[in-house]
Amino acid sequence: MIHHVKATASSTDGDGGTPSVKDVSLPDYAAEAPGMSGFHGDINELYLHEQADRHLPALLTDLGERKLYDATAQCNRCGYCETSCPTYMLTGRETISARGRNQFVRMLVEGRARNPADAEEAFSTCLLCGACTSACYAKVPTPDIVLEGRRAQDGYGDNFFARAAINTLLNAPAVFGFWLKLAYLVKKTGLPRLATKMGLYDFLGMPGISEAEGSVNHVPLRFASEVLGKDPDLAPGDKKAVNWVYFAPCGPNYLFTEVALATVRVLKRCAGEGVLAENICCGLMAHNYGRLEAAREFARRNILRYEELKERFGEFPLIADCSSCAAFMKSYEQLFTADPDWRPRAKAFAAAVRDILEFIPPEKAGHADKAALAKAGRVTYHDSCRACHGQGIRKEPRAVLHKLAGGSFVEMPESDWCCGGAGAFAFTEPELSNKVLDRKLGNIASVQAGTVIVGGTSCLVQINAGLRKAYPSARAVHYSVFLDEVAGK
Ligand code: SF4
Ligand code: SF4
Repeated sequence: MIHHVKATASSTDGDGGTPSVKDVSLPDYAAEAPGMSGFHGDINELYLHEQADRHLPALLTDLGERKLYDATAQCNRCGYCETSCPTYMLTGRETISARGRNQFVRMLVEGRARNPADAEEAFSTCLLCGACTSACYAKVPTPDIVLEGRRAQDGYGDNFFARAAINTLLNAPAVFGFWLKLAYLVKKTGLPRLATKMGLYDFLGMPGISEAEGSVNHVPLRFASEVLGKDPDLAPGDKKAVNWVYFAPCGPNYLFTEVALATVRVLKRCAGEGVLAENICCGLMAHNYGRLEAAREFARRNILRYEELKERFGEFPLIADCSSCAAFMKSYEQLFTADPDWRPRAKAFAAAVRDILEFIPPEKAGHADKAALAKAGRVTYHDSCRACHGQGIRKEPRAVLHKLAGGSFVEMPESDWCCGGAGAFAFTEPELSNKVLDRKLGNIASVQAGTVIVGGTSCLVQINAGLRKAYPSARAVHYSVFLDEVAGK
C-alpha cells in the first residue's frame, strides 16, 4: 500500500528557504499504526512499498543485523556526530546533518513525515562519507539509512543515462567499452570543452556534465584489462597457487589505467605471483543509484568468478585499488540477507577482499629512490572516506609512507575530511561539493604538500581538479602509483 505524502513545511532549518514540494511514495504505516505506541512486528520496514525490490531487507550494522527502523532507532539524537558531518559543518543546517537525516528516515517509516521535499534535499546532499558513523557510539549506519530513504523516493534511479550505463555494463561490457572509447575520442577533439565554454550544458539543464568534463584531463584509449590481459606473467598457466588476485575496479580499469598498471607492478614486486580476476564492475553504481537487483547480479557474477579461482588456486587475497569498490565488496553480504544460498557465498567473497592500502606491509614496500622522493616534495595522506570510515584503514598506508618518505611525510589537518568527490556527488551537487573541496585544499596547502596520496579514484579526480585551479604546485597521486614511482626502481 502506498501512501503519497504532500507536505507542508515543518523544517527545523534556519535558512528560511522554501523548497519545492514533491511526492514521496511511502508505505501507509500511518494508516496501519498511527503513532509510535501502535508500532509492532514488521512495521519497521519500508518494504511494503510496491517497489520493494528497491530496498534492502535488512542492514548489517556494527551492532548486528537490523531492520531499517531499528537502525534509525539506534540514533539517540545525541549530536555527537554533528561536528564530523561536512554538510552540517559547512551550512549549520540540522536537516542536512547525520542526526537530521536519520530522523527524516525514521519519520518516513513511521508515516510522520511532513515535508518530503526537505527529505529529498537531505538525502541527495549526503556524501555517504560515513564520518558520522565513525564518530557515533551507537554506530548508526547513516549512509545506508540515507540510501534507503533515497530508494523510497519516486523515480529514484530512473535516470536514463545511469540506467543505460548500468544495463550495458552488466549485460554487454564490450559494448560499454566501445561507447566509452568513442566518448574519449570525442573528448580528445576538444568538442566537449567547447560545449562547456558555450554554456551548452547549463542551457540544457545539465551543469553536472560540464563539471565532469572539466575534472578529467586525460583519457586512455586502451583499458587496463586489455593491457594486463596480454601480460604473460599474469596468465594462470600451470600455477598451483597464487599470492594475490587483482580485481580491476572501473576507475582504474576504464579511466586511471596507470593506477591499475602500477598496482600490478607493486603486487608483483612486493608479493610475488598473482593473476587477474577478470571481473566485471563491483556493482557500487547500481547499488547507490537505486538498482539493487542489478547490484546483486554484478555481485553474483563476481562471486562466481571468485569461486572458480578459489577452486583452482585455494585461498587468496582479492586486491582492489579503489577504496569505494573495496569497501562495497566487503559489504556484499548485506545485499543477500534474505537469500540463504548467496548470503554465505557473499560473506566468503567479502572476507577475501583487500584494499591495496592495507595489503603491503612496510617491510615489503622496498626503499625509496632519493631522486623520485625529492621530486615528490612534501608528501601527505588524504584518508579516502571509504578507506577510513568504510573499512577502518588508517594506520597501514601511513606505516608504508612513513617508511618510504621519512621526514618528507607530513600529516595534514583533518586528513579524513571528505574531498567532496563522493562518486557523482561532485557533478550532482557542484556547489556543496566545491565548498567541501575548498576546506580539503586549504588543509593541503597548510602543510605545503607537493604530493597528496589518495586511495580512491573519485578522490583523485576531485582533488586534482581542485589543485589545478587553486594550488597547481601540488598533485594528487594514487597510493599504488606513489609506491611504484618512489620505490619501484
Ligand atoms: S547518529 Fe549517532 S552520534 Fe549522531 S545523533 Fe545519532 S546517536 Fe548521536
Ligand atoms: S554520511 Fe557524511 S555527509 Fe552523510 S550524514 Fe554522515 S557525515 Fe554527513
